[in-house]
Amino acid sequence: MEKRLRLAPSPTGLLHIGTARTALFNWLYAKKTNGKFLIRIEDTDTLRSKSEYTANILDGLNWLGLNWDEEPIKQSERISIYKKQIRRLLEIGAAYRCFVSDSEILELREKQKKSGLPPKHDNRHRNLTSKQIKEFISQGRSSVIRFKIDDEAKIKWEDQIRGEIKWQGKDLGGDLVLSRRALGDEIGDPLYNFAVVVDDNFMNITHVIRGEDHISNTAKQILIYRALDFKLPIFSHTPLILNSEGKKLSKRDSVTSIDEFKEMGYLPEALANYMAFLGWSKKGSENEILSLSEISKIFNLSDVNKAGAKFSWEKLNWINSQHIKNMELTKLCGYIKKYWFDKGWESPSEEWELKLTALIQDSMILLKDSIDQSKPFFSLSKIQNEGKEFLENNQGTRESLKSILSYLKDEKIVKINGAYAKEIINKISLKTSIKKGLLMKSLRVAFFGCLSGPDLIQSWELLSEKRSDITLIERCLI
Ligand code: GLU
Repeated sequence: MEKRLRLAPSPTGLLHIGTARTALFNWLYAKKTNGKFLIRIEDTDTLRSKSEYTANILDGLNWLGLNWDEEPIKQSERISIYKKQIRRLLEIGAAYRCFVSDSEILELREKQKKSGLPPKHDNRHRNLTSKQIKEFISQGRSSVIRFKIDDEAKIKWEDQIRGEIKWQGKDLGGDLVLSRRALGDEIGDPLYNFAVVVDDNFMNITHVIRGEDHISNTAKQILIYRALDFKLPIFSHTPLILNSEGKKLSKRDSVTSIDEFKEMGYLPEALANYMAFLGWSKKGSENEILSLSEISKIFNLSDVNKAGAKFSWEKLNWINSQHIKNMELTKLCGYIKKYWFDKGWESPSEEWELKLTALIQDSMILLKDSIDQSKPFFSLSKIQNEGKEFLENNQGTRESLKSILSYLKDEKIVKINGAYAKEIINKISLKTSIKKGLLMKSLRVAFFGCLSGPDLIQSWELLSEKRSDITLIERCLI
């Protein structure tokens, strides 16, 4: 039978790394089994759901390469279907109308708190007579629909990640609210735990993979599945993503939305690669730099850990740098050129752009690093203290730069290639008796304003093509 998986995001915020990781695990399992990956937008909370968030979630999934197989479904368009199923539950006596007001619920909670009891509904309207119901309605009281959860109910499922999980009805908080408040004999809009069951059944979902924070929901949902006589999917609950303090990663942990990772210069394939390791690892496999399709071939739910997965910037950065290193040059150049364009930096030729990209490729961690690393090739860099001190403390450095300058000018050299650059350095070193190493360091200060930077000879080649090598040397001699 075809495996059908889904991501069911609520569009109440930007695509978050936790949701993206859930999407990834569902996508990987669907790909591995030649199944389908579907999307359902859970937008029944009309106050908090926004279409911009739906767009952001879909864009983010697309950016990560997590393509879906069928047109996404929106719960807001299916309200009448849920209500029909709620009526079914009312008819068979598995659900009932509950008129308990918010203040009465609050009162009950307070009482339970005082006695040190966990919050649990007391099901006081479970057995109202039709006369009592009519009376409440005529008093203008609003009602919710509650699903009966017997204290004795036993729930058990084989979780693909956690093994056997058992729950008891008495630990599920009393009879479950299925719909929002409504007046008269209306049924209000359905709530998450009910709509999810109806939809997973309607969409023929065979496997539900979601965060461990949904474990108690799964227990409640299984009871609804039973009452509606729906076939149960196979459940898997993934570990939470934790911050460095071991707490659930949240919006408070500076960066959590996929947009922010994109903005910071992470590659979609690197972020997806890293996210797969947030809770999953292939035993016995050493290679950690993998494409999504490579991961999908080796992915197994049984290899997903139960323990929380600590988020590590260090590892994410390393994975990103490796993906940049392995990237095809023209593709990387395409990414980098966007930054140059934003800065208004112009290059002499496409060949030059590719050469500069190759020069900085191995030292980049984030795509954004290309801005600082390519800046000296577009604009005059400031001579830093380290550079100034080097020129001042090493006799002959200015003199050597002067010699190089006059050589470049006398010979009317405009374009330097690697061999020629080496020849110039040799000649000047012989003429001035300054060691080649010192000479090259002086040039480095001229080009980059400090003693670090990419390969000097290749840098000189690129700078000479823009004719900025002369200007850069001159500014050290003023
Ligand atoms: N809308 C729920 C959420 O975003 C879906 C959970 C589920 O997968 O059932 O947490």
